[in-house]
Amino acid sequence: MTEVSLFTRIINREIPAEILYEDEQCIVINDIAPQAPVHMLVIPREPIARLADARQSDTSLLGHLMWVAGGMARQTGIDEAFRLVVNNGEGAGQTVFHLHLHVLGDKNFTEQEL
Ligand code: 5GP
Repeated sequence: MTEVSLFTRIINREIPAEILYEDEQCIVINDIAPQAPVHMLVIPREPIARLADARQSDTSLLGHLMWVAGGMARQTGIDEAFRLVVNNGEGAGQTVFHLHLHVLGDKNFTEQEL
């Protein structure tokens, strides 16, 4: 049996989180350890482990996640300067193996911080 991900447990309200938005396809929460004044996570309900595991049938969902990220950026007032990050795999710093988009904003971005 595959293990239920941390984010599925948040979606199922088994673990508390600051939920900012949710719809039938995804949920948006505040990151518990923010790397910027605004640090949200856009998480699909479908527990795709990594972006590299997404299928062609997930393309509409992936587009939806991007659209929600942009809407949340507008809603939180960071739409003039924000960054979207997806860590894929341990080597890239992924720690939760349930796809999520980091939406980072309200900070000074520098070239070195990519
Ligand atoms: P990753 O490193 O996989 O790209 O990102 C995982 C993110 O999830 C990290 O930024 C981490 O701070 C966040 N995170 C880990 N555990 C929790 C939790 O229990 N609640 C919330 N809201 N965020 C979490």
